[in-house]
This record gives sequence, C-alpha cells and structure tokens, in this order.
Amino acid sequence: MRITEVRDLTVPLVGGVANAVVSFADHTVSLVALVSDQRRQGRPVIGFGFNSIGRFGQSGILRERLFPRLLAADPDSLLAPGGEGFDAAAVAAAVMRNEKPGGHGDRAGAVAAVELAVWDLNAKLAGEPACRTIARRFGRRAPHADVAVYAAGGYYYPDDSTARLGDELRGYAARGFEAFKIKIGGAPLDVDLDRIDAALDVAGDGSALAVDANGRFDEDQALRYAEALEGYGLRWYEEPGDPLDFDLNRSIAKTYRGAVATGENLFSAADARNLVRYGGMRPGLDVLQMDPGLSYGITEYGRMLSVLEQAGFHRGQCLPHGGHLINLHVVAGLGLGGCEAYPGVFQPFGGYSPACRIDGGRVTVPEDPGFGLEQKPELAPFLDRLGET
Ligand code: MG
Repeated sequence: MRITEVRDLTVPLVGGVANAVVSFADHTVSLVALVSDQRRQGRPVIGFGFNSIGRFGQSGILRERLFPRLLAADPDSLLAPGGEGFDAAAVAAAVMRNEKPGGHGDRAGAVAAVELAVWDLNAKLAGEPACRTIARRFGRRAPHADVAVYAAGGYYYPDDSTARLGDELRGYAARGFEAFKIKIGGAPLDVDLDRIDAALDVAGDGSALAVDANGRFDEDQALRYAEALEGYGLRWYEEPGDPLDFDLNRSIAKTYRGAVATGENLFSAADARNLVRYGGMRPGLDVLQMDPGLSYGITEYGRMLSVLEQAGFHRGQCLPHGGHLINLHVVAGLGLGGCEAYPGVFQPFGGYSPACRIDGGRVTVPEDPGFGLEQKPELAPFLDRLGET
C-alpha cells in the first residue's frame, strides 16, 4: 500500500465578515489530497484534508518542504502496524523532517492538512466514518452519534451592525441552534453591551451565549470587559488578550467568575502545557479550543488532550475551534465537549453536509466514509478538481 501522489489547492473563503482584529475577506485554505494506490469501485482511494479556517493557505510550505519529504520517505515506514492503513503519526513525522521545534507558525497548519488527509484516507479504506477510525485509534469504544453544537457568528457588519446581529442569530435559532457566540471588542464597550442585549433577546439566557474578543484587549481593557460581563452569566469569555499572554489570561481567570475560553491559537502540546502551567485555566470550568487543523493534526491534538487530562481538565471542556466536518468527526471520535458551526459563512469549508441534522442544539455525525467532505455541496467541486486523475 502506497501514497502515489500528493496535491494541494488554495481555496478562497467566501464571506466578507470581520472580528475585532481581522477581516476574513482575503483568507484562504489549503486543501490537500493524498492519492493512494488502493482502488474502490475502479477508482483510486484519495484522502482529503485541510487546515481549518481563519488563517491562510500554505502552498509554499506544502510544495517546497512537506510534499517532497513525504514522497521521499520509505513507503513501508508510513504504514500503520497491523495493516490498518497509513500511520498518521509517521506521516506527520516524515513531513517534519529537519524542522526545528517551536515557533510553529503556518507550518502547523500545513502539516495538519496532510495529517488530516491520512485520517480521511484510512477511514475510506476501512469503509467507515472518520469518527470511528479516530475512536478506535485512541482506544475509545464508540464515537458519539451526535454532538453538542453552537452557532458561531455575530460578526461586525459595516452597516446596521447590531440590528443585523439579531437577525443573524434568529436565523441560526430557526435552523436548530440553541447556543450562540458573538464577537466583542470591535466596538466601544457600550456598543458591545447593546450587542450582547440584542443577542440575549434570541439566546434567552446568558448560559446560551458566549462572547469572543479574538485576543484584542490589553490587560486593563480585558479586566474592564470582565467586570462589565460578569452579571450576564455568559457561557464563556473567549480570548480576552493575546493568546500567548498567559499572564493576562491568568489575571482574568483570577477575577472573572465565569468561564474563560482560549486555545485556538496554540499549536502544540508544549503550548498547551504552558497554558495550563501559567495561564490560570481552571479545571472543571474553563473552555479549551485547540484546533487540530491549525496544530499539526489529530496526532498532536491527542498529545494536547493528554497534557490537559494530566493537569486535571476533562475532555468535555474541549470545544475545538473551526466549525466544519473534520472537527465534527474529531469531537465525536474523541468524546469532546462539542463543536462550533459557522452557518452561512466561511464557505466552502464552514458548516456541515445535508446529512448532518441540527436539532435541539446538537448535530448528527454523518455515516459517509471518511470525513464526508464529498457530501458537502459547496466543497465537492474543489475535491473533484483536486482528485481528478
Ligand atoms: Mg475565537
């Protein structure tokens, strides 16, 4: 069994939304295809992966560094023991040859796109949804059939921002979502409090509404918001300050009684270890949002989970960033606390396929082989282009 070819395609994200720090209008995603020499129904089995949402494609890193290393590796060294397809950890190690540790940057997403494609490939070879392959590999009995999901959105619009926010959330509620997340920090505090009031009109209760500052605040601003948010009993207060400013995070966690969420911009087990050592995160309360697609893939994500569990955190506190099919399978396979969805934005990657029913705040995991990316109509044309033989 061999990987015969590896390809990538840089796909632009559709939707001109913004948070407190960045506009997503020119963001791109790297879609990767691993072509195998195995055939099903007369066609080669191809694994697809991508590097989540919210950053940029990494075609240069993929083509100049990772792909040549993968194709130069001894093919037998990439196989899983026991004939169970390919070894995702071995593939990740092969593409990381001669890379120094630390300073992860865009490399972490590029490696993830390749590593995730291995899971899709393995699941297709086994004829099963990826959540089942993931659960088995991590020694879990069975994946969850559905998982808790919340609608992430509530971005800033150029006109009528607060009114449009209410309309946006009402649209999500009509589609079966019962929990929501909105952006803060892109407007003055009093405007943001109006936005929270508008969102609560739809969410009903603070426990169904999270807010995300996207790392915008310095310590004084973060504390000022913490004080203003305290009375709302919100689901969580996300990334108040720079994601690597553990001291700031600790000072918020010390004063804010509600849950603090962070982690989507931490890319390795070493980063996660630093967060739990120095960031003041509280077992049983706070929310950890590391995203396999931004952080070297599921192999490294498993290492992060071990770090967290050894520090007393429960995997139910983990809700990965990135509302898409890949993380739905990760959450179901690893028994995590839930996942997000970006209904209507970040196409063609954001959101789920028609087979995923959203009802009562939960989303069902599709039974299609692999991550089921082929079943997502917005994404299918790109997979066809990349998979053409
Ligand atoms: Mg966030």
